[in-house]
Amino acid sequence: MTGMARKESVMRITKATANLEAYTPGEQPKSKSVVKLNTNENPYPPSPRCAKVLKCFDLDKLRRYPDPVFMALREAIATLNGTKVENVFVGNGSDEILTLAARAFVENSEIIASLDPSYSLYKTLAAIRDVKWVGSSADSAKIVIPDSASLFLWTNPNAPTGGFASPQKISSFARKFKGVVIVDEAYADFAKENCMKLAVAPRNHNIIVMRTFSKSYSLAGLRVGYCVGPVDLIEALYKIKDSYNVDAIAQAVALAALKDRAYHAKTVKKVVETRESFTAELRSLGWDVPESEANFVFARPAKMPAPELFAALRERNIYVRYFPGPLTGDRLRITIGTPAEMKKLLSTVKKLNA
Ligand code: PMP
Repeated sequence: MTGMARKESVMRITKATANLEAYTPGEQPKSKSVVKLNTNENPYPPSPRCAKVLKCFDLDKLRRYPDPVFMALREAIATLNGTKVENVFVGNGSDEILTLAARAFVENSEIIASLDPSYSLYKTLAAIRDVKWVGSSADSAKIVIPDSASLFLWTNPNAPTGGFASPQKISSFARKFKGVVIVDEAYADFAKENCMKLAVAPRNHNIIVMRTFSKSYSLAGLRVGYCVGPVDLIEALYKIKDSYNVDAIAQAVALAALKDRAYHAKTVKKVVETRESFTAELRSLGWDVPESEANFVFARPAKMPAPELFAALRERNIYVRYFPGPLTGDRLRITIGTPAEMKKLLSTVKKLNA
């Protein structure tokens, strides 16, 4: 492209897009030998029922468009959560639901707010919409949010910290908040409690609870997330979504995974047990490891600075996540893998005297 042509194309890009600091997803290494503890994926395979669905999938279903409103999957989600189909929306991953919410619930002059630190995509979504983002400490007894905030994204359990807020705390916040509160429960299946009862309560008018198949169902590659909330808010999401936002294979596989309750419970239990034993081991080495209700821990090494250890682990083919910055830069976020993977990480940490 000539210099002039490039300049012209740049002029066609909106200022918000041109200036955007894009979201950086965790690294996806090609090599299978990497111990991959950097993107909070599940170390166990999806339910065997998913494999069965894929094996028997009628190719003629791909010739046609999928159900635009994913009714079979929605019915199963509604039944599981004690609500009705009109209260359920399904997205191409919960990331899509967040994108739609930023469009549906936020005027150009309004603000998107969340905890800080939290899922860094929220800030990017505000930048894409060209609206302001405001962060609030999860520790502060009172969350201070400007009046013009119209969407609060409350990750619970929080990421990257693993910290948990009670449904009572979130409910009393939502009563005072004039906008929409989305409780992002990507990790809630690994926690003792969740906020679904708030989303399905008939008196609720501004709480949406969002879940994903990416973590506890081991289906991050499938791209399915869902949310439950008041009918008017859910209808707004349907109005602006792409016509066929969840493909036919994704609908069928997610449904099979959702219906295999025993497998789901067994997988979650294994991850939670490994989290508890891994936390105890790290603490015995002098690490600071706050309680986590998620499938990761956010831990401060005993001796080595976090960025140095991150690099040293990476050199040894062990990938964890490091978030620079004043609130997060002294810790590593470590996804809970299999017991064998955690053992390998622990023995490397010991060898490095970290
Ligand atoms: N919310 C949080 C807090 C997450 O950590 C993630 C995964 N990165 C998501 C939402 C998005 O998940 P999904 O795969 O469903 O898009």
